Amino acid sequence: MKRLKQILSRIDGKGYKAYKDIQGEYRFPRFQLMIDYVQGDPFAAPSRIRVRMPQSEAKYPASWYETPRRKQALEDWISRVWAEKTGRYSFRAKGTGKSGLIGVDRPGQEILPRTAAVVNDQFVEVRVTIGLPAQGRRVLGRKAEEMLCDYLPRLVDEATPADSIDRDGVEERMKLVDNQGAIRRFLSERGWIAFVANGSVLPRESGISDRPLRGKNVVQFQAPKSMEVSVDVPHGDPIRGMAIQDGITLIIGGGYHGKSTLLNALERGVYDHIAGDGREYVITIDDAVKVRAEDGRRVEKVNISPFINNLPFGRDTVRFSTEDASGSTSQATNIMESLEMGASCLLIDEDTSATNFMIRDGRMQRLVAKGKEPITPFIDKVRQLYEERETSSVLVLGGSGDYFDVADTVIMMDEYLPYEVTQEAKEVAQSQSNDRTQEGGEHFGDVTARVLSGKSFDARKGKKEKVDAKGLHSIQFGTSTVDLSGVEQLVDVSQTRAIAEIMRLIGKKAGGGKTLRQLIEEVYQEIEGKGLDVVSPFRGQHPGDLALPRQQEVAAAVNRLRTLRVD
Ligand code: ADP
Ligand code: MG
Repeated sequence: MKRLKQILSRIDGKGYKAYKDIQGEYRFPRFQLMIDYVQGDPFAAPSRIRVRMPQSEAKYPASWYETPRRKQALEDWISRVWAEKTGRYSFRAKGTGKSGLIGVDRPGQEILPRTAAVVNDQFVEVRVTIGLPAQGRRVLGRKAEEMLCDYLPRLVDEATPADSIDRDGVEERMKLVDNQGAIRRFLSERGWIAFVANGSVLPRESGISDRPLRGKNVVQFQAPKSMEVSVDVPHGDPIRGMAIQDGITLIIGGGYHGKSTLLNALERGVYDHIAGDGREYVITIDDAVKVRAEDGRRVEKVNISPFINNLPFGRDTVRFSTEDASGSTSQATNIMESLEMGASCLLIDEDTSATNFMIRDGRMQRLVAKGKEPITPFIDKVRQLYEERETSSVLVLGGSGDYFDVADTVIMMDEYLPYEVTQEAKEVAQSQSNDRTQEGGEHFGDVTARVLSGKSFDARKGKKEKVDAKGLHSIQFGTSTVDLSGVEQLVDVSQTRAIAEIMRLIGKKAGGGKTLRQLIEEVYQEIEGKGLDVVSPFRGQHPGDLALPRQQEVAAAVNRLRTLRVD
């Protein structure tokens, strides 16, 4: 620390580049400071540092990180504490540009594996970005000393040792993630789709906020008796709630009665949520994929023939490519690509579906001959999908009772509460024929894996590689922009950043005859072995702002790359 102070006083008042001299490691009384990267000027991407407190100081009980779930939840906790406490010290040292910034990647409502903090039996490490203070382009050495040798140690003390990070809160979080894990196991042992605990709060504050809706008008979730189960959990009483079994589940009901809200909660249930979110015990199997129509998207040689055939001009639908998909072809593509990645459940909302993809009623069948209609509607494929491929579907459908014929379970939302009406729906289906003809054929059809061409990925922009997230739903990859606005289960911009990096890695591996899924799985094996840091191009510099995406979302991004080529 003394040495750092000496350097800072020596470079005080010099040009900003002189800051490069502080790169390196320093011993502070309670922690180690690593200055990994020093920014080029006060406006550039901020500097990256790490603080590492040994367990002899931090004193975390081993039980806090004894399982992968707990370790990940603890690291997430520390990121949150830091993200909150940095607010107190950030920009206290004032100056030009980003001078004085102290930042840690801030998690949202989900608990995700992230790179912002690392805990093991040796140490606790936090990855921080800072703006080294300057006046114009001159080093403010004294301000930097204040930041690094006064604020930072105080921050480390307030946000790192076991005694200062709310022990009880951490213990509660450990119990929460253990219980969430138990519910996930419960589902996977049975092959079921989802669990929604009684008392859950599903609606969100607003269309742009992921926080729970509050107030007296909030209706807490209550399972229909016929679908209620009780799940044993390691901490506390068994948790009761609604279980959605595998098969085909419809969510019906009047407009504005909470159908989409329930489906949205199921979409997010692939992740664990923090206490107080309202969806803590809404758990969905890990590889459930929300699919929707997404007209305008590009498609590269996807086999959509299970759904689409006989396009005008004899266009190929076994290797279907387009720069500008329609509603129905984009939805078919999104489904086929999800199946290619092994999705075992599809989540579909009528609000974001192409009507002609979902249904084709008896009258329309009579007027427009099958030979003139390229689309085999989902209603005629959904059972084959389940029976032949074990892929379940949960569908929000207020508008078409034709689906009663193919459903295993029908849930009706009424004033935000679910009722099971499977029996009634079957009776209606029997007494009132829909006069449809089955169009699905004998089998679902093939899901075709695609081999990626090495020429698909060019991360360069000018001479340098440039990949980054531009917000939650956009990636810049070299000179192309990848639009992810149709990828609804992406929840954190840190995931988007990680996807950008993973795409870069896939680009380096592609071309050896490997399929998209194989390439993604290879990268995930590396991540499994070495941690998420491994996807970062900065050797020796921390990537403190990444969170783990699912493989499905990585595939979704690759599939939307406009330069993608399939061999
Ligand atoms: P639907 O899809 O059936 O038309 P939505 O799910 O979009 O309905 O819900 C309509 C509105 O009701 C939304 O503004 C939503 O936030 C609100 N809402 C949903 N569920 C609840 C609930 N359990 N308690 C209070 N408000 C809710
Ligand atoms: Mg809706």
